[in-house]
Amino acid sequence: MTELRTLKVALLGCGNVGAQVARILLEDADTLAARTGARLQLSGIAVRNVNAKRDVELPQELFTTDAETLVKDADLVIELMGGIEPARTLILSALSNGACVVTGNKALLAQDGPTLYEEADKAGVQLSYEAAVAGAIPILRPIRDSLSGDRITRVLGIVNGTTNFILDQMDTTGAQFADALAEAQRLGYAEADPTADVEGHDAAAKAAILATLSFHTRFALENVHCEGITSVTAADIAAAKDAGFVIKLLAIAEKLVDSDGGEGVSVRVHPTLLPREHPLAAVRGAFNAVFIEAENAGELMFYGQGAGGTPTASAVLGDLVSAARRVVLGGPQRTETTTGHIPALPIEAATTSYYIGLDVADQPGVLARIAQLFAEHGVSIETMRQTIHTDAGSNRESAELRIVTHRASEAALAATVEAVKGLDVINSVTSVLRVEGV
Ligand code: NAP
Repeated sequence: MTELRTLKVALLGCGNVGAQVARILLEDADTLAARTGARLQLSGIAVRNVNAKRDVELPQELFTTDAETLVKDADLVIELMGGIEPARTLILSALSNGACVVTGNKALLAQDGPTLYEEADKAGVQLSYEAAVAGAIPILRPIRDSLSGDRITRVLGIVNGTTNFILDQMDTTGAQFADALAEAQRLGYAEADPTADVEGHDAAAKAAILATLSFHTRFALENVHCEGITSVTAADIAAAKDAGFVIKLLAIAEKLVDSDGGEGVSVRVHPTLLPREHPLAAVRGAFNAVFIEAENAGELMFYGQGAGGTPTASAVLGDLVSAARRVVLGGPQRTETTTGHIPALPIEAATTSYYIGLDVADQPGVLARIAQLFAEHGVSIETMRQTIHTDAGSNRESAELRIVTHRASEAALAATVEAVKGLDVINSVTSVLRVEGV
């Protein structure tokens, strides 16, 4: 039998994910060699503190604080340090040295992805980042490879487990946001500083990556409209539930065509109502899922664990084996294609259905006046439901109106809501939420 060649693998970072990657590389060395056609030799692990206690027992001689030297000597580099620097400089150095790079660093990719992709293209090496979106779920390679002969029209993703856990808690227990967040922190699903998750920033970074691969056009973080879940109330959840919806934080990337045939891509993250029978509505707890609509494939859904050391390590190892196979086979490597050149649309151009909750005076003719205002602004109503409340103290009657519209533009909807607020029969606009999947 011919001797397999050896490829040196440098691991940068040995935290939640890195430690599991190191363990699998050492424990499954023979299996990985059989699948790759080369032995993957872990040549070193760069960390800040070589003496820190690790989740996994690993040979002490592998640890170093000298990441630069480790990278210079590697065929394959796995970056799992997180953050912007020194991860960025180390990845650029590895790529320019001709090493393939695997990373899970969505923050870096969203902030400076184009520089990294360009360096990988220039050096003819592979930059892979399956772990950066939805943890263990194989989603980027299906988009980039399996669907490369199709046209994706829309991607809807639950790509942040923390916010899905919080919204699910609110939905099942009736809890307010603050209490559900505290529970998520107690169980380890949310960090002490949950800003990046609850404000939608983490999901926005992933939305930029999903949009880039789906529409073959580079989208950066500044192209993503981002709203988090901090203003979602228990009353919103209860009203949604009553109307047959569940609220999810969705990362959305969709191609829109205007009346003149001009194409644009709307990339956005916001709380969204989904009908309870929609496949994404069944995604509970901290799980992730990505729902894709493509012209020929139709609807596809990918579901699984979006975080955690071992699940995320699975995605990293998949990328590593794929990159190593390409090194063994030789020839130039291709990371992604950017031939789409589709412009990013501002949020005002996005079109979606809406749920609007109104507290109105219970008087004759109110429904007709509201319906007329919607029609005047070009927003068509799909359903309108009315519930009458009697205030026990004043004996005054008011009505709660729940309106679901057909698809309309953000701009038209915003103008409609402003006009509705001006009607003397409106006590308050209790909620305005976007709806998908109707
Ligand atoms: P982590 O637990 O915080 O581990 C980070 C590791 O990097 C530590 O071992 C740390 O060294 C090392 N490190 C940090 N800065 C360094 C520096 N300047 N020089 C050398 N080493 C440095 O992070 P993680 O949760 O494993 O996440 C790693 C990456 O994967 C991040 O980009 C993250 O966004 C991504 N990711 C994580 C998950 C997940 O479930 N955790 C899921 C998907 C993607 P010390 O140990 O010595 O401090």
